[in-house]
Amino acid sequence: MIEFRDVSVTYPNGTKALDGVDLTIPDGQFVVVVGLSGAGKSTLVRTINGIVPATGGELLVDGAPVAAANRRQLRRLRSQVGMIFQSFNLVNRTTVMNNVLTGRLHSAGFLRSVFGWFSAADKEIAFDALERVGILEKAYVRASQLSGGQQQRVAIARGLAQQPRVMLADEPVASLDPPTADAVMRDLQRINRELGITTVVNLHFLDLARRYGDRIIGMRAGKVVFDGTGAEADDAV
Ligand code: ADP
Ligand code: ADP
Repeated sequence: MIEFRDVSVTYPNGTKALDGVDLTIPDGQFVVVVGLSGAGKSTLVRTINGIVPATGGELLVDGAPVAAANRRQLRRLRSQVGMIFQSFNLVNRTTVMNNVLTGRLHSAGFLRSVFGWFSAADKEIAFDALERVGILEKAYVRASQLSGGQQQRVAIARGLAQQPRVMLADEPVASLDPPTADAVMRDLQRINRELGITTVVNLHFLDLARRYGDRIIGMRAGKVVFDGTGAEADDAV
């Protein structure tokens, strides 16, 4: 469970990106965060794995305050939270498989993470992740040779290889054409259903949010201004 208790984020330059957010996200929920550019969606998502620290209030993941985490605990938290970005963030010159295996680095010991040694079990997990997003046959293709939709699936597989409890996706389909965006959202939803991974996705557009979110959170100027189902969002808009 993820709990925001009156969480605020003020960046060092004084921008207040989150302003008193209260939210409880139960395990296994598929949450879509919507709002205009600058509303605070990215910041909200990035506080969950501690990339952006909350500067006010309290954020708890499975009952543990993220702010109180020491380096080891933060590393553990990040290993349990997969993250997907708009721009995929793959290493283009290497293979799909190598990209997905980086998802295993979190759980590898220090030496393995430095030298990139992976066990047969790590490779099995990576193959399984690629199979779940339907691109197993691309395992040994260079990432740069794939389409945008395929690259985002590699990024999803990399997140899955972490065997996460939570998957965060910051505008994951913003650079994809509408049918591809829809297919990637369907993959994320199927994975949420099959594996029970709590999923928080930022989207610009309400139509995809309505189609895929169990719950829609609307943000404006750092505040939650809507929290409900897709049907309720229809009434509110
Ligand atoms: P969204 O994802 O909804 O576009 P963001 O969370 O990216 O919103 O941004 C919320 C506000 O915080 C915006 O005004 C943005 O310019 C600002 N912001 C985001 N990241 C930073 C940062 N690293 N430093 C300063 N201001 C930031
Ligand atoms: P995206 O929409 O893909 O998240 P953005 O252009 O909003 O990309 O932000 C890119 C990066 O710049 C992010 O890491 C964000 O936190 C940071 N950023 C956004 N707005 C600001 C800002 N006003 N000042 C400093 N950094 C910012």
